[in-house]
Order: sequence, then structure tokens, then C-alpha cells
Amino acid sequence: MAKQPAEYIWFNGEIKPWKDATVHVMTHAIHYGSSVFEGIRAYKTPDKGTCVFRLQEHNRRLFDSAKVYRMTIPYTLDQVNEATLDIIRKNDLQSAYIRPIAFYGDIGMGLQVPFGQETELTIAAFEWGAYLGEEAIKNGVDAGISSWNRLAANTMPTGAKAGGNYLSSQLISMEARRHGYGEGIALDRNGYISEGAGENIFVIRDGVVTTTPKTAAILPGITRDTVMTLLRDMGYEVREENIAREAMYLADEILMCGTAAEVTPVRSVDGIAVGNGGRGPITEAVQEKFFGLFNGTTEDKWNWLTPVYE
Ligand code: PMP
Repeated sequence: MAKQPAEYIWFNGEIKPWKDATVHVMTHAIHYGSSVFEGIRAYKTPDKGTCVFRLQEHNRRLFDSAKVYRMTIPYTLDQVNEATLDIIRKNDLQSAYIRPIAFYGDIGMGLQVPFGQETELTIAAFEWGAYLGEEAIKNGVDAGISSWNRLAANTMPTGAKAGGNYLSSQLISMEARRHGYGEGIALDRNGYISEGAGENIFVIRDGVVTTTPKTAAILPGITRDTVMTLLRDMGYEVREENIAREAMYLADEILMCGTAAEVTPVRSVDGIAVGNGGRGPITEAVQEKFFGLFNGTTEDKWNWLTPVYE
């Protein structure tokens, strides 16, 4: 194993030592990508201690992803929420990245096999810093448009966060890094902007904020919803509309967001500077609101924080 970032993993209802949380090589999900998962963060806040951010929405999406693939997770949403809190406590974490994953285990070969079978469920929680780097949060990432398109709507559902979808993300992200970019952004099959390898995209021009619609082959992110809500609360107009590639070149500001990437400015696209080539004022203001939820300067009007240690 590369490293052991935490002591324990929640595995099918049991707390297991990290090194013992293993599966068989014939695990269905390894062969066929038959898993659905979430990425969730917990932050240390000054008033409520360690809190999970939007726990209910993330685990609800886990169940939604499972439903799309006709998977049965043998627990209730409340049980998964409780297990998520449990594994953070068990590892005694102050902040965490949390990875619940439901998958078909060693149930036999074949694509028809899963029908009627229950999934396994594991939840890992460990410390994880800024995904695109601390520097990027401040100064932005250089992004490149990928030669790989996102999935067409009638091929695989991008609204379900399934393991198999991440082969697309890996191609986008590997190509971007090979070309010297910090992250890759893909177009959808209609040629409009879709999303980053693991992030949704917002484009700002003349004070109007636009993000790509749910029909642009995106995973509709919970951070995307957070950023839209915060911007509207700050008085900005936020549109969900198709975004043409050249709008990226002509934007005053671009930001990308996701649970791992949090809220990160994009400072160039395909080598063309976005605005003045740094972090723009609206991006900075919404970052301040976003991180303010965790450092206590933004009031949690929406009840997005669930305390871990009561
Ligand atoms: N798109 C993709 C492909 C992702 O993997 C993610 C990260 N889960 C996102 C968007 C952002 O989603 P969220 O804000 O819910 O983490």
C-alpha cells in the first residue's frame, strides 16, 4: 500500500483497521466499474468544532447514484450519515476528506449478475489538504481544454457519481498534466463547456456569473450549488446556460469548484490569461464566503454544517 492515512475504515457495518479493509481480486467493481461513491469534507470550525459539510446532500446523492444503476445499498440514509460521523470520530480527525463507496463485491463474473444483489459499503476518512494545491486557491490554476469530450447523455449518466465515469476524468486530468496544465476542462458532445476532471466551472463577465447547465454532461456538484447559493445571497445574478469555449478566453474571471478542489480560481485557459491573469474580485469574495462557513465569518443560514463531536 502506498500509505496509510488513517487508522480505521468503516466496512459493511464494522470498524476495521485500515490494512484489513481489503477485497477479493474478483470484486465485480474492479472488473466492471460497478461502484458509486461520494467525496465529502469535514472542517474544524471555531464554534461547533469539527463539522461535516452538507452531509445529508452528499449521502443522498450516493443513494441517487445507486438508484440509477438499480443498486441496493443495504443501509438507510440515516445509517450511512451516522456511519460517516462514526468513522471520523473513530479516527479522531479534526478535519477530513470522507469517501463512502458502495460496490458490488465478489458476486461472480458477468454483467447480469448484480440484479437483486446488495452492494458492499465502506467509508474511509482521512486528512487531505487542498486538491489543486494551496497556491492555486490564491493564485489560480492554468487549465487546458481537453481533446477528450465528456460522455454523451445517452451513453453513461454523468449525474450518477459512478466509479466507471472516472476513467473519463482520468483521461482529462492526465492529458492536462502531460501538457503542463494544472487541470483539464472537457467539452460536452455538443461542443460546449462541460466541467473539469473533478470540478464544476463558473465563468464571470461584466458581473454576471454563468455556470454550465445540468444537461452539459456534468456531475451537478454540491459545491456548485453552494457557490450559486452564496453568490445569489451576495446579490449576484447567476445563470445556468451553455458556455462556448471562446467565452472562457473572454471571461473576466473563471472559477472551478468541487469538494476536493473547494473554490479555486482559473488564471488561464489554453495559455490565454483570464482577465488580468490572477484571482478576480468576485472569485475572491465568494471564496471568502465559502471558507467563512468553516472559519466562522459566514453565518450557516442553510444548516449545512453537521457537528461531529457533540
Ligand atoms: N464533477 C465531477 C466529475 C466530480 O468528480 C466532482 C467532485 N465530486 C464535481 C463535479 C464536484 O462535485 P461536488 O461539488 O459535489 O464535490
